[in-house]
Order: sequence, then structure tokens, then C-alpha cells
Amino acid sequence: MSPDPSGTIKSVLQEQRVFHPSAELASQSMVGSLEAYRRMAEQAKTDPDSFWGEAARTELEWFEPFDSVLDWSNPPFARWFEGGTTNLSFNCLDRHLNGPKANKTALIWEGEPGDVRRFTYRELHAEVCRAANALKALGIGKGDLVALYMPMVPEAAIAMLACARIGAPHSVVFGGFSAEALRDRLVDGEAKAVITADGGFRKDKAVALKPAVDAALAEGACPSVTSVLVVQRTKESVVMEAGRDQWWHELVSAQSQECAAEPMASEDRLFVLYTSGSTGKPKGVVHSTAGYNLWAHLTFKWIFDIRDEDVYWCTADVGWITGHSYIVYGPLSNGATTVMYEGAPRPSKPGAFWELIQKHGITIFYTAPTAIRAFMKSGRAVPDQYDMSSLRLLGTVGEPINPEAWMWYREVIGGDRCPIVDTWWQTETGGVMISPLPGATPTKPGSATLPLPGIEAEVVDAQGEPVAVDEGGYLIVRRPWPGMMRTVHGNPQRFRESYWEYLRPKDGSFIYFAGDGARRDGDGYFWVMGRVDDVINVSGHRLGTMEIESALVSHPAVSEAAVVGRPDDLKGEAIVAFVTLEGSREVSDALIQELRVHVGKEIGPIARPDEIRCSDALPKTRSGKIMRRILRALAAGEEVKGDTSTLEDRSVLDRLRA
Ligand code: ATP
Ligand code: MG
Repeated sequence: MSPDPSGTIKSVLQEQRVFHPSAELASQSMVGSLEAYRRMAEQAKTDPDSFWGEAARTELEWFEPFDSVLDWSNPPFARWFEGGTTNLSFNCLDRHLNGPKANKTALIWEGEPGDVRRFTYRELHAEVCRAANALKALGIGKGDLVALYMPMVPEAAIAMLACARIGAPHSVVFGGFSAEALRDRLVDGEAKAVITADGGFRKDKAVALKPAVDAALAEGACPSVTSVLVVQRTKESVVMEAGRDQWWHELVSAQSQECAAEPMASEDRLFVLYTSGSTGKPKGVVHSTAGYNLWAHLTFKWIFDIRDEDVYWCTADVGWITGHSYIVYGPLSNGATTVMYEGAPRPSKPGAFWELIQKHGITIFYTAPTAIRAFMKSGRAVPDQYDMSSLRLLGTVGEPINPEAWMWYREVIGGDRCPIVDTWWQTETGGVMISPLPGATPTKPGSATLPLPGIEAEVVDAQGEPVAVDEGGYLIVRRPWPGMMRTVHGNPQRFRESYWEYLRPKDGSFIYFAGDGARRDGDGYFWVMGRVDDVINVSGHRLGTMEIESALVSHPAVSEAAVVGRPDDLKGEAIVAFVTLEGSREVSDALIQELRVHVGKEIGPIARPDEIRCSDALPKTRSGKIMRRILRALAAGEEVKGDTSTLEDRSVLDRLRA
């Protein structure tokens, strides 16, 4: 696909509310004012080598110092911190053992049935060393890819850190994926081993995992895989294949709790992670050791303005990049206390999340807009039953957040007191790129605000030229940054074409294009408008889907909305909205009409949906993102083509068809 020559997207949403950091927060924060943020950003821009070099030297431990900061002589293939050697597992564990952090809680884990396990930094280090020695005993060494197909148990984090410790890149495959999706990823990555579990607990049931591994490996489908390590969680019976499968608790507990971290070259491959698949065939995104470590570390520190006493919880799954960077690596690299939860809110316990916050005194809570909209749908009576006064900061990630959901999050969960960090980033970027800094950046509901220091994000047209204020266009990044992906596994050409050659400015420079559309307002704030592939062209006006969806969600009857275009002879495209209603509301012609009028009033007649379809659910990926590609096919009355293996619930598709 090539860019639309008109290049711009019309913006229709106007959101005027602004929330300033309190003076108290500003005075206690690492970056305490907008001026301080601007100074950092300016310094990073004028002398990026000193900025990143200084950060890498002061924030990470090195076995061998690096000689150069960035080698960009062969764009878009960047090389950061060459000559240096370090280890992510060392930076997350060993370096905290010589001081008071040794006995600080590193990880609090709660299982769905309510079982709790805690690890101090010293204890986590010992577990990781044992697991690392177990991998070595299986013949896994530096450079061998290890796939993880795990429930949310501490062993998932331990296994990741163990892989990093011995220099074996991991490829975490979300535990909700099917055997076929797992097999594709094992084959593509040529995995040598799989770490899994008998199963995990999800919505009050034991959900098996091991049978999917057996199915993926059946009939020699993945010849590279020589061993499978199985964590016992549910204690349901599983088939263990002799010579291939071993129990974690037997092999790992027998190992020594000392295992030196392997010195890794900065650019050594750290992990492969397949993108969530909202748009098409998953890509194996490759990240490298030092740059990723630095970016996960720095962004976590800046965005959450982390303090020693914080108890931090991110609700993502370790199968997603958010789980990698902001459950495991960012928090541990900073010596923070990170919480991991196996379960989800469920009919038997709709307040599961709020109970966890109350019970563990969680101070920072990071979740996704899709979860927030689900909480809104079930009403504030649920969270209102819990004491969440420990919270001081809230975050969101994964999708644009509608201003309506943002306000609800702030008022109901944050007690009107906690700042919200809306963090824009991707699997490919390794860490957050655009986000407020809590003590510095005034926030506006629905805006990810400003790029982090060192990130030169911009909105441009199809020629790579900056667009005017408030005009929508392509969200791009001008310069390399340490956490950027290095390549697509096994397909450097795809990396080059998908991310760096989609837009080529006249001066021949390389700019990273992320797939998203955005606009910047008069304050330079970014408003992510969704993916450019989702833009709808109505009578020559290119409209982002996000704004129309936000208008729909701002109606009290609507809990969630997804908007797509349908080919239309007259207008080019007609707007079709798929809507789920609040619990108690019934569909009627009058309500549909009311919604159309509401959108017209909120953002103008051009955005009024031509058709509104109500359903009880929308098709989402397993990471909770709406798959508009599927809705587009349904709206046009076409067959749904392409990969649907990442769909959370296939029955939604059948119900929408009917
Ligand atoms: P695929 O690339 O396979 O289609 P994906 O893009 O959903 O999957 P991720 O890397 O997990 O996989 O998600 C990144 C995308 O999520 C971004 O490109 C953007 O569209 C969206 N996103 C993430 N955070 C935000 C945010 N704070 N505001 C707006 N959009 C966001
Ligand atoms: Mg993507």
C-alpha cells in the first residue's frame, strides 16, 4: 500500500478540557515542570549522542563500556552502543543486590484463586539463576531461541529473565493463542525449546495449555524444538513425552542458585515478539540487548515518576510488549515493586481489579482503554465498593482513549486526584514514545500529549512534509532511538519497506512511519486518530475513525463503538458504525436515529453514520483491540479474508454475520 496523495486527515473532534499537575506533585516529581521537560527535549535534540550516551552510562551497568553511541551509516538498520557488553537480567537483578533493594519486594504475584507469592530481589535472582541453569542443562545456549507459552504465573517472568541471563533470545507467545498460531511462531523463529505450563486459571476455570503445545509439535511440525519445560500450575493431568518434556519443578529446583550473567554485545538479539495482529499477518519484531534495556528503563522511570515506595501494577499479559517492557523489564531494571495478576474481572468477581488495588496498596495502575470501557459499562457501583486511596497515578495504553472513558477513569478510579498518562507506542518502538510526564505535562482527555525527550515525533503529509496545526496526517519519528526494533525476524526487506520506505521525504532521509494517523493542536499535543488504513473517505473528506467513535461513546446509551467505511457510489465511502449498548439499553429505531443526530451535533453532519448496527460485542484481538478489518468486510457484505487467528472470540463473528 502506498500513501494517499492528499495525505491529510480531517479532524473533527474538539476537546477543550485541560488538567494541570498540582503544585505538590510538581515539587515532588523527577521532571517537575514543562520548562524542565522542554530543556531535556532540547538537549536531546541538539546533541543526541551526548544525551543517549550519558543516559546509557548512568542508567545501566556495563561489563565493557561502549565505544560509540549510534551508528546510522546503514539506515534503517541502526546500531547502538557498539563495543559495549551488558546483560538485561543483570541490570534487572544483580545490580540491586548490593544495597537495601536486595530485600525489597521485586514481584508480588496473585493467582486467580487468590493465592499470593512474593519475591524479594534476592529471591527472584536465585530463582532466575536456577531456571537459567536448567536451560543450560537442556543444552540451550547463547543465541538459541526459546519460546514461552505461559499463563500469568511468576515463572513466566522468571523464564524471560533466565533466557536473557544466558543470552538465549525469547519469543513469548500469548497463552491465549491457538496451537496453529503457536506452531507458526515456533516455525518462523526456529525455536529450540518451549517453556509452558499444564494450564492457568481464567474466569474461574482451569484452562489447559500443554495440549496446545503437543498439538503444535505433533507430527514433526517443528523439528527445531528439542525440549519442553512444563510448569505445574493447575495440576490437571497432562501427557509428558519422554525424552522431550520435563517438569519445571523437578529440573529447576535441582539447580544451583548461582549463574553468572552472560556478557552480551549491545546489539545481540534480546527477543522476538510477534505483533498482536490487528491489521494482518503477524511480524516477528526483533529487539536488541542494550538499546531495549535502556529504553524500557528510562521510559518507565520518566512516565511513572517512580518512587521507592511505589507498588506498581500493569494489567497486561506478558505475551504482549506491554508485559515485556512494563511488567517485567522496566520495573525491575528500576528496582521497583511490580505486581502480576493471573486473573481478569469476571462475573463472580467484577471488582477483582479494585480488590487487588485495595489489598496490595497499589499506587500506580496501568491498563487499556478497552478495559476501562468495560468497567464503565458495568457501572461505578462496583469500583465504589473498594478503598483505592493508595492510587496516585493512572496510565492507559493500546488504543486511543475516548475523552469520555478518560474522564470516567480519572473521576471514578482516580478519585479526581490521580494524573493520567496516556502512552502511545508500539511493539516496534520497544517502549513508550508519546506520553505526559506526571509532574510536568498538563493533560487533555484523549491526547497522548508530547513526545518523550529524544523522540522527534511529527505529523506529516504523504510527501513527508509537516502538516498545519490541527490537520491530521501520518504520525512519524524522524530520528532513531535506542529502543527501536532492529528488523523483522528473517525478513529485513519487510522491515525496510513496512516502516522506513512507506514515506520518503524529498531529501532522501529515512523516517519511521508507525501506521497511525494523528494531528497536533496549537500546543503541539498529539491526538492519535487511529490507524491510517482505517481512515474513511467521505465525499473527499478523509475522516479518522477514532473521533466518530468517541462521539458515539459520549452518548449515555453507548458503551463501545467501532466505525468503518463501506464503498458508496455517491460519497466514495459511507460511514457504518458498530455499536454495543450499555447493559440496560434496548435497540430501537428511535435510539438509532438519536445516535445519528448526536454524532451530527458533536462533530458535524459530515461524520453522521449512514448505518448503525447494534451487537452485544465487537470483534477484538486477544490484546483487546477492535479488528476493523473484519468489520469493514462485514459492512461491505464481503467474506472475511485474511488471518483471524488472533481473534479473541470467534463466535462474535458469527453473531455479527447473523
Ligand atoms: P499489528 O501491528 O499486528 O496490527 P498492533 O498494532 O495492534 O498489531 P501493538 O504493537 O501491540 O500491535 O499496538 C500498537 C498500536 O496500538 C499503535 O500503532 C496504535 O495504533 C495503538 N496504540 C497504542 N497505544 C496507543 C495510545 N495511547 N493511543 C492511541 N493508539 C495507541
Ligand atoms: Mg501495529
